[in-house]
Amino acid sequence: MKIFDEIESEVRSYARAFPRLFNKAQGEVVFDEDGNEYLDFLAGAGSLNYGHNNPVLKKKLLEYIENDGITQGLDLHTRAKGEFLESFKANILEPRDLEYVVMFTGPTGTNAVEAALKIARKFTGRENVISFSNGWHGQTLGSLSITGNAHHRGGAGIALPGATRMPYDGYLGDEFDTTNYLDKVLSDTSSGVDKPAACIVETVQGEGGINAASMTWLKNLSDVCKKHDVLLIIDDIQAGCGRTGTFFSFEEAGIYPDIVTLSKSLSGYGLPFAVVLMKPEVDQWSPGEHNGTFRGNNHAFVTAKAALDHYWKDDSFAKDVQRKGDYILQRVTDIVAKYGEGNFSSHGRGMFRGINCVSGELASEITRRAFKKGLIIETSGTEDHVVKFLCPLIISDENLKKGIDILEEAIRETCAKADTIPEEHDFFEGDYSHSEEAQNYGN
Ligand SMILES: *Cc1c(COP(=O)(O)O)cnc(C)c1O
Repeated sequence: MKIFDEIESEVRSYARAFPRLFNKAQGEVVFDEDGNEYLDFLAGAGSLNYGHNNPVLKKKLLEYIENDGITQGLDLHTRAKGEFLESFKANILEPRDLEYVVMFTGPTGTNAVEAALKIARKFTGRENVISFSNGWHGQTLGSLSITGNAHHRGGAGIALPGATRMPYDGYLGDEFDTTNYLDKVLSDTSSGVDKPAACIVETVQGEGGINAASMTWLKNLSDVCKKHDVLLIIDDIQAGCGRTGTFFSFEEAGIYPDIVTLSKSLSGYGLPFAVVLMKPEVDQWSPGEHNGTFRGNNHAFVTAKAALDHYWKDDSFAKDVQRKGDYILQRVTDIVAKYGEGNFSSHGRGMFRGINCVSGELASEITRRAFKKGLIIETSGTEDHVVKFLCPLIISDENLKKGIDILEEAIRETCAKADTIPEEHDFFEGDYSHSEEAQNYGN
């Protein structure tokens, strides 16, 4: 369709990497207008953990709409909201002994991050916030101030104060526990780093290249925060909602963060929805102090509740995610061994895994080839050099295998002709077949 070229802003990104007109989807499969079928290993950037149009969620949503359920987004008390909270408490908080207060923010991830930063600053009366190398937290100013990526920070056009960067786990090599450095810096009033309100961290860095922190590092980070009376914020927007094999990505570390942000797959249906969870004592907001029109997406409440009731009432779903995660790990390890020769490496946790291809060009060619073969898969990392697995958690074993087979084939072909320059126009007949464009989207 010409209309996109005519009037859609140049800022469009994913559309450049996957230049097709999509119009239907079910589970892990997406269809374009020409009837082509794609396996979706992007899944709305991790916002479709339960797949497209999940039948369990769809049924509840259709019923709700059919019965003229409330649709507006102010934070009025509605039945849908109350039932979401009940389900969240019963299925998620209580079984994990977590006593969080739930704050409804604007519906995107970055809204939750902004609110988390605000309340941390208000609660402590301090301005500085510690974030980590390669961290990625969203595109509004506060979130950009704690994001690593220079391309995205540059988009702000103004100074982004109030944050200090520290090295993430593994940044200085496997031998060096970077929380020791953080501890030292916070212990020394002449380190040059102001005592922060909070540390904000992803347990697995999504946009930053699927770097997974070890459980020991997370535990140490939590200890350092406690020691210095600094709040710990886990940004679980991408790694949460089951992606790593447990509902929260920090469960295995045995830590109890002061604040947690959730969004992406929280509604489970691709509907915008975000929350900030905080320990009751942190909840120092006065009524309406952080307000907004869309802080109550009732359709999202309905689908989120349906997802929690169906998938999280016991640990069978989590176990299944862990099993599939093990399979992905085994296949990826195998691929790295086969084609690696020092070029590829595997990163991540659970069904949140990436293949580091070192070169962004190589990774892009692999994902372009995969797309031609019917697999939608994205890259992440500073140079878009990491091929990132984000398939729906509900994917069938058969399609999981098929998707990885396609990816392996794409890697094999790319490696086979690694020293010849790829002919871009071979890949698509469409209007967007420029490699420069294809590389300048997303991260
Ligand atoms: C996607 C993401 C965000 C931002 O969410 P948006 O809905 O894009 O604003 C923040 N933090 C993490 C870890 C994310 O993956």
